[in-house]
Amino acid sequence: MKKGKLIVISCVVFILSGLPSFARSDDAEKPVVILDAGHTNKMPGAVSITGKYEVTYNDNLVSKISDALAGAGFVTIPTRSPGQEIKLEDRANIANSHNALAMLSIHHDSAQLVYLEPIEQDGKKAYRTRKPISGYSIFVSRKNQEFDRSFIFAKLLGEELIKLGRKPTLHHAEPIPGEGRPLLDADLGIYQYDDLVVLKQSKIPAVLLEVGVIVDPSDEAYVTRPEHQESIVNAILVSLNKFKNIQ
Ligand SMILES: [Zn+2]
Repeated sequence: MKKGKLIVISCVVFILSGLPSFARSDDAEKPVVILDAGHTNKMPGAVSITGKYEVTYNDNLVSKISDALAGAGFVTIPTRSPGQEIKLEDRANIANSHNALAMLSIHHDSAQLVYLEPIEQDGKKAYRTRKPISGYSIFVSRKNQEFDRSFIFAKLLGEELIKLGRKPTLHHAEPIPGEGRPLLDADLGIYQYDDLVVLKQSKIPAVLLEVGVIVDPSDEAYVTRPEHQESIVNAILVSLNKFKNIQ
């Protein structure tokens, strides 16, 4: 996540896309969650240590989250379908066009170039961390009109991820170019990032989760294991259930 040289490494800055699925009438009473898979095929985000683009990690996990939420009585609305291109603003517009409980944007993280070593994977330029950088990060925007509730959702999500044994990565708070993000809760890995479009333009509680650091060998291995993905999906489900129950 960062600006600058980044296409390859950057993540959140290019946050993107959307496409609604429509609730059936018998779903009218169910809580609605907007699921935002970060990036698109044309703006695919970071390249992982295994040479895969971030967008593929995001799409895969969003699909699993959607299935789990649907099975637990939520209606899920994606901001885009796999392969669809969409503008950042339109992601927020979709979030705002439904009476939704919250929006969750899913990303997978990278690090600043200074921490990365170029490698080649399948003929493609990729990167790996020079030192371990692992864990999740959660972002909220004070420019979101539902900041207070966004922060509550963020804390519930962080608490569930900690229960999995995950740790927040604090590298986005480091005082180096491209980082220096204010931490709102260091224990839970919650950062303030006011100008992320999908967060600030959404009029509902909105949280962005960087699930793990895909340029780090051990974290990339963690987030690609199906059993870990299942645990992460369940943590998201539990946090959304708790958030729903305190509304
Ligand atoms: Zn990203």
